[in-house]
Amino acid sequence: MTDTKDGPSYGFDTLQIHAGARPDPATGARQTPIYQTTAYVFRDADHAAALFNLQEVGFIYSRLTNPTVAVLQERLATLEGGVGAVCCSSGHAAQIMALFPLMSPGKNIVASTRLYGGTVTQFSQTIKRFGWSAKFVDFDDLDAVRDAIDDDTRAVFGEAIANPGGYIMDVRAIADIADAAGLPLIIDNTTATPYLCRPIEQGATLVVHSTTKYLTGNGTVTGGAVIDSGKFDWSASDKFPSLSAPEPAYHGLKFHETFGPLAYTFHGIAIGLRDLGMTMNPQAAHYTLMGIETLSLRMERHVENAVKIAKWLEDDPRVDFVTYAGLESSPYYERTKTVCPRGAGALFTFAVKGGYEACVKLVDSLEIFSHVANLGDTRSLIIHSASTTHRQLTPEQQAAAGAAPNVVRVSIGIEDADDLIADLDRALSRAVG
Ligand SMILES: *Cc1c(COP(=O)(O)O)cnc(C)c1O
Repeated sequence: MTDTKDGPSYGFDTLQIHAGARPDPATGARQTPIYQTTAYVFRDADHAAALFNLQEVGFIYSRLTNPTVAVLQERLATLEGGVGAVCCSSGHAAQIMALFPLMSPGKNIVASTRLYGGTVTQFSQTIKRFGWSAKFVDFDDLDAVRDAIDDDTRAVFGEAIANPGGYIMDVRAIADIADAAGLPLIIDNTTATPYLCRPIEQGATLVVHSTTKYLTGNGTVTGGAVIDSGKFDWSASDKFPSLSAPEPAYHGLKFHETFGPLAYTFHGIAIGLRDLGMTMNPQAAHYTLMGIETLSLRMERHVENAVKIAKWLEDDPRVDFVTYAGLESSPYYERTKTVCPRGAGALFTFAVKGGYEACVKLVDSLEIFSHVANLGDTRSLIIHSASTTHRQLTPEQQAAAGAAPNVVRVSIGIEDADDLIADLDRALSRAVG
């Protein structure tokens, strides 16, 4: 199934299995083969020249394109409602790849304060080495977002369902602000997945993913993706010369003029992957394609379990509070209905009576939950951020990041909810008494 734009429009469950894939032309293999090859033979010298001039689309070298990875790219573009996607070696690679065509030294992005911890570090520290910077703003304060945008801003960045959980971003409201400023909105949709949230339908220009998490779903490979809506007019201002002005590395070719809505995707492959080399390998693409085939089934169970467990915890006297947007008590409960109508995900935090010591004991007493720095696995996972990922921060900084000493973060898996509740019950008894 290659192109559904002019044909019948299939449902999500059909597309997550078929989009981008077709029986292997050489063997008829029904499952997408792992094309474990570095290079591809040119038909002749003219064919090679056409490929290198971007006059013909095809496979040259697996740093740029690979048939297994290409199936995943097409599947992700379809599921997100975009025109094209570029896969990368990790979620963090995807974020750099997403910003690369938009940025240059001296330019900045306006980013939400509620982001994955690793992203906060990437944006507040590492991108400075490129001469880029980030301004962190509370995305619930729309005036502050507007005020933060200046002449050097080149993108607005947020997470639909934000890590460590419990916060839902008003994607439409932020998209309207970005739009009015002539800027692309980038949404990290990792914790929601396109099954729960479709940011492009809510006005996002680009979507980034850590495919490491729910898309692969079984904790086997790292990967990332950048999906383009194809809707942004890169030539409307002189802010995006990489896409609108002549490209010296391709004889003065103008990406937007030449490739239209596919300009950003072509730039990601022809410049981004070619020169930055953050390529996804075909084995990783294979595992992720396997995972995506069952995405909707897993996300339904993740959400169902998360709701049951969050409600049970909220009613438990050993627990002070639960931050899950799927609970009626959450300030973001109403927002989930428009942003992620199929559920608020399966990532949330809760506060344990007894503080730091009780949290450490709880984590050590659990049997089914694994103590790991990951999320979005079929397995239930837990982490006490204050003693691990957020250890270097002061208690005030920990609290601001949603990682106060008395708080643990859980990523609810797809095991039996009753078993997970019994596990938490036993461990809470040991930790709190
Ligand atoms: C894990 C994660 C990332 C980083 O992805 P990697 O694949 O670990 O590089 C970025 N954003 C979110 C929301 C994540 O959960």
